Amino acid sequence: MKISDFWRLLLYVVLGIALGAIGGHILLGVTLSLLAYIWNLYHNLLDLLNQVNGASNDISPKESGIFEEVNYSISKLFDRHKDRRQQLTAVLRQFEQATKAWPDAIVILNETDDIEWANPAARNLLDVRWPEDKKQRITNIIRFPALREFISSTGNTEQQTVDIISPLKPDLHLSALMVPYSKTHKILTARDVTEIYRAIKVRSDFVANVSHELKTPLTVFRGYLEALTMQSDICPPTWQPALQQMTEHAVEMNSLVDTLLNLSHLEESQIPADSEAVDLKLLIEEIVTATSQIYREKNHVLTIHVDSQKKLTGSRVELYSAVSNLTFNAAHYTPDNGTISIRWYQQDPYLVLEVKDNGIGIAEEHLSRITERFYRVDSSRTRTEQGSKNGLGLAIVKHVVRRHSGLLDITSELGKGSCFSIKFKQ
Ligand code: ADP
Repeated sequence: MKISDFWRLLLYVVLGIALGAIGGHILLGVTLSLLAYIWNLYHNLLDLLNQVNGASNDISPKESGIFEEVNYSISKLFDRHKDRRQQLTAVLRQFEQATKAWPDAIVILNETDDIEWANPAARNLLDVRWPEDKKQRITNIIRFPALREFISSTGNTEQQTVDIISPLKPDLHLSALMVPYSKTHKILTARDVTEIYRAIKVRSDFVANVSHELKTPLTVFRGYLEALTMQSDICPPTWQPALQQMTEHAVEMNSLVDTLLNLSHLEESQIPADSEAVDLKLLIEEIVTATSQIYREKNHVLTIHVDSQKKLTGSRVELYSAVSNLTFNAAHYTPDNGTISIRWYQQDPYLVLEVKDNGIGIAEEHLSRITERFYRVDSSRTRTEQGSKNGLGLAIVKHVVRRHSGLLDITSELGKGSCFSIKFKQ
């Protein structure tokens, strides 16, 4: 008990005794004085409560003692709280200004994909209006079917991206990213990547044009070379080895130009023009027959598992090219006596094609790049019976997979083997 409180209590008791003695009832006097003391305490507490609840602005202590100290502590607490609130408001204001200036769309979603917050760029890029769309389910208001599907299919665990064309402006390319940041919330961002698309388009147009221009002279060149090789009367025999070599290079170059033209065609559009129900079992058998020579030469153990009879809707030519690239790579990058397995199976909601080998494998640092054009782990070029290894095979696979709305998954371990799987939606 504080000294001042003790003296106050003593004063009440003494006053009670004195008044009680005057009236002849000391006990009654003391009881009444104690009641008065308690009443005073009650009022002080009430004042304190009003202050804490903000009903009273008067924070000056009415009496010294414990109440004065409590009052002082509360007002200090209030000051600290006020400072923190001001700091927080300043941070929030800065955050708001930064996100207003940020060119990418940012939308915060809760566990049921309702919009909790969005920045102004979300309006121009995603057509999400803030605050009008507050608490709306994003999949109900977004007009992009691809993005809607992406949001619905994205779980709460991993970061995923999708590239879409904006229906607000057809020449606007967006890259959307979904990042879960707590058990319940996710951030959806969308970035304008039109310039990157334009640069990619310029590059692929250039490659397509150059390939196209090379095609005719190469054909003429090859024709003359073959004629010269066959007509030994025109060309002296000493020239034959050189002619042979020139023909081989011309054939190789021709095949490269054809592959580049094929790749340009695959890049140009989103979906295959010729779609049919493709029997993957037959396709795999056909490819294996075409590659059988290399399996035999390297004594590979090849297993084929076809666990689904379901047909896949798509371009037979493109699917043939993708699957044969994978099987041929498996054969090429697996040393003698190795094992290769090809599987076609159902894993709801997907149909999966898997090509697995126990070959040389791929080091992790290359995995993210091996589907790029001309990217090779070992940059020296190799020529094979089936054509030159020029780093275009997996680029073709990637585009075919994209055109069939599939997902390409590559896992590999250096020295242990690789597994390439394509998941097609049924
Ligand atoms: P390439 O014509 O060089 O085979 P690809 O685009 O088909 O070009 O493959 C790119 C690179 O990926 C290859 O150079 C090779 O290093 C690696 N690669 C592809 N498939 C396999 C595989 N099954 N095992 C090991 N490495 C592979």
